[in-house]
Amino acid sequence: MWSLKAWRRNRILERNPIDPAHWAEVCRRLPILDGLDEHEQQRLRERAVLFLHDKHLTALPGVEIGPVEHLLLAAQAQLPLLHLGELDWYRGFHEIVLYPDDFVSPQRHRDAAGVEHEWDDPRSGEAWHQGPVILAWPGVEASGSWEGYNLVIHELAHKLDMLEGGANGLPPLHRDMRVQDWANAMQSAYDALNAQLDADPDAETAIDPYAAEDPAEFFAVTSEYFFSAPDLLAEAFPEVYRQLTLFYRQDPLARLQRLQAEHQDYRMVENATNG
Ligand SMILES: [Zn+2]
Repeated sequence: MWSLKAWRRNRILERNPIDPAHWAEVCRRLPILDGLDEHEQQRLRERAVLFLHDKHLTALPGVEIGPVEHLLLAAQAQLPLLHLGELDWYRGFHEIVLYPDDFVSPQRHRDAAGVEHEWDDPRSGEAWHQGPVILAWPGVEASGSWEGYNLVIHELAHKLDMLEGGANGLPPLHRDMRVQDWANAMQSAYDALNAQLDADPDAETAIDPYAAEDPAEFFAVTSEYFFSAPDLLAEAFPEVYRQLTLFYRQDPLARLQRLQAEHQDYRMVENATNG
């Protein structure tokens, strides 16, 4: 059956071919794409083009970006969606604003006693409900290796979380998933992390202690680890890892282990060259 949507999609892809040299550069700079098969690579390329067609990147003065950098951002944005249907998972926002450096965000919080607290919080990313995603470009450039840090995936995980109302650590789950299983896995890991930090605020936690901030940050940080340090996450919180494989319908740990089986020093070499 002829479909307007498919016709539009194909027209966008035809009109915006990716220079193979650019894509090769993107893959070189993003070790977390290593081990994707040919179909996945192809799908990621197409979705990156569609993403860039759909979203407007606003680079503030001091951010110099060209076609490779656009693709670098888009490929990381689309990696989490690679095995999800072509639903509009990033609907509800059109703009990504790129800052030249970390920025200060005014925060406000009313405590249990009704007292309003305000403070300035330095950060490298922010996702506004029904609004833009803000990314500090150095944070984007520091993302892409297997080191448990990925600013792009972190902020866009907040967007997935926000699809069902506010950011509360519960994105729209698939029909074959159970909210109760998700809640149990997330809550007990979140509680364990908080208990560890309550006992010792300087504890060496298995994942970034920022995850203990609130359930929304827990989902964003564990999503970040899922794609960039799946071994650390699976070891620390196996049930969280399992729920994320069901949600993202991917198994980055299996992919990483395949790469390591092929080259024993795979990750050490990658991390050394990517600093
Ligand atoms: Zn966050």
